[in-house]
Amino acid sequence: MILKKNSKMPLLMGALCTVLLTSCISSSAPGQASLNNTLAPTEVPRIASLTDGVWLKGDLHVHSRHSKESTNNPVEKIIAFSKSVGMDYLCITDHDNHVNGDVAHHTWADPEFKSDSVLLLYGAEWTTTRGHGNPFSAKPYDHQRLYDVRDQRDVVIGEVKKELGIHLSANHPSGKDHFGYSYDMLESIEVWNSVLWSKNANAIMIWDDMLSSGRKLTGRGGSDAHHGTPDTPDKATENSRQAKANYVGTPTTWVYAKDRTSQAVVDALTNGRVCISANPYAPRVEFYADIDQDGNADMMMGDNTKSTGKPVKFHIQLTGNTVSEVSYTVNVVKNGNKFGTFQATGKTPTVEFTDTPETLGRTYYRIVVEGPPTAYPQVPESMTLSENMVGLSNPIYFNFDPNF
Ligand SMILES: [Zn+2]
Ligand SMILES: [Zn+2]
Repeated sequence: MILKKNSKMPLLMGALCTVLLTSCISSSAPGQASLNNTLAPTEVPRIASLTDGVWLKGDLHVHSRHSKESTNNPVEKIIAFSKSVGMDYLCITDHDNHVNGDVAHHTWADPEFKSDSVLLLYGAEWTTTRGHGNPFSAKPYDHQRLYDVRDQRDVVIGEVKKELGIHLSANHPSGKDHFGYSYDMLESIEVWNSVLWSKNANAIMIWDDMLSSGRKLTGRGGSDAHHGTPDTPDKATENSRQAKANYVGTPTTWVYAKDRTSQAVVDALTNGRVCISANPYAPRVEFYADIDQDGNADMMMGDNTKSTGKPVKFHIQLTGNTVSEVSYTVNVVKNGNKFGTFQATGKTPTVEFTDTPETLGRTYYRIVVEGPPTAYPQVPESMTLSENMVGLSNPIYFNFDPNF
């Protein structure tokens, strides 16, 4: 096993036209119980533009020298590497308990914590007796307060979290140091931790349970990398070989952000316009739905609308460096269960399918893509460890209650 035990293993619809909105729709069947004992929401938020944005990629879980067990991984090295592989954003998440909660005077105050090209989010790994989580913020926040209430009851922590205005995410939710707090105070969950894809099956199960129970939680990735490549051979440690197998970008989390700003990255993470790829060069899974079947996408992953009772056409597209002449396996998961398996080939592999979400009760669809690994020369042993996992989408949602 290459990871230290402390790191827990834990479309385009042709041309994507600007069909933007599904405005608020009234419930047509008040008073009727749905299959999952909820009413369909009376209104859902307007869907944001599908074209007025930018895809940005990054890593949301990386440890620098400010985490005590990290080796050869100064902030500058992490940022330079991220830039070299085309990362747009990064969150360095050092263990807060290693500095008694004072990340503001360690990681964030490090003179190397700056970049002219990579958007640096503010965060830390909230490292507590009841497990680990990552707060994400576009600007500095009072992390000490979150650290100080870590052993309080969840209602107290939830209030502090709200006051801090941060996005909170569960880390490696199954296994050692799993997130042991209420998921009701979260915006996202780390469904793909580190290069070892096979270790994430239980995290995916937890995610499906949360989604099925009406919690619109974004699935995200995080390498949890702790160890950099030594500058000279004499600096090598017993964990240095991890740098060749699990480092920044294994996996890579893509967000469809309104613009190239840290705030837009955090907002996209919150609203779920997110997918995860095995590495920065692996193709991105885009997932769209055409609600009125006019040939134009109306919504994408992360979006929620009210079911009309009519069939919806779904479109999946692999964008980026696809391996030509090979077939990708596209698995569609509906409400936690396998819905269908499709094969896709070509320069821009696509799959389309049609289904009718229930008029009452919630429905979600998400995508898992398997196939040949894409080369990641900077982390050459990663391709074997991520096996045939190419990417994951976030769900497209129907009838989820925005006020849940
Ligand atoms: Zn952790
Ligand atoms: Zn970690």
